Amino acid sequence: MTEIDYTKYTLEELLECKESIDGEVYPERLAQINILIKERAKDKPVHRVSIADEDGNIASIKTGRAPSFGLGVGEIAGSILFGLIWLNQTDNGSNVHLIGYFVILSGCISGAYHLYNAFSKNRFSAQDIVAPDKEKDPFESALNRSSNDSDNKFCGDCGYEVEKKYKFCPKCGSKF
Ligand SMILES: [Zn+2]
Repeated sequence: MTEIDYTKYTLEELLECKESIDGEVYPERLAQINILIKERAKDKPVHRVSIADEDGNIASIKTGRAPSFGLGVGEIAGSILFGLIWLNQTDNGSNVHLIGYFVILSGCISGAYHLYNAFSKNRFSAQDIVAPDKEKDPFESALNRSSNDSDNKFCGDCGYEVEKKYKFCPKCGSKF
């Protein structure tokens, strides 16, 4: 295996390489990359814009507490009111009669969900913003993946198979 001359890498390339390299397999390469990044960061300030935290967790959109409270009260009150009227108007024991219980039960469950979001410290998210490398869309994958499988390439340094989009070997850090 040949040594890689990281001194020829640009700062951006070093940062990308740092992200992708397997530091457990190549600790000395990672250390060299870190030293070079420090050296170059002195000359050029680096601004990495990201909405993700250090673990790659990205923001989620959550329903406001006031709308959640309104939905919770509305669904519980509405479902109970509708259900009671329904139960009162339909024949006891008939299948149609049972709809009243179903409406009350489902309304109270979804109402409880909204009230939880209104008052608890950690709310359920309404929409997640997800990095594509963290959570792929299965539908997109089903449409695209079969033709992309053959587009993988192999690292000339360590032989690791990677997707074509990579500019660095995720295992050893070699540049393609
Ligand atoms: Zn490699």
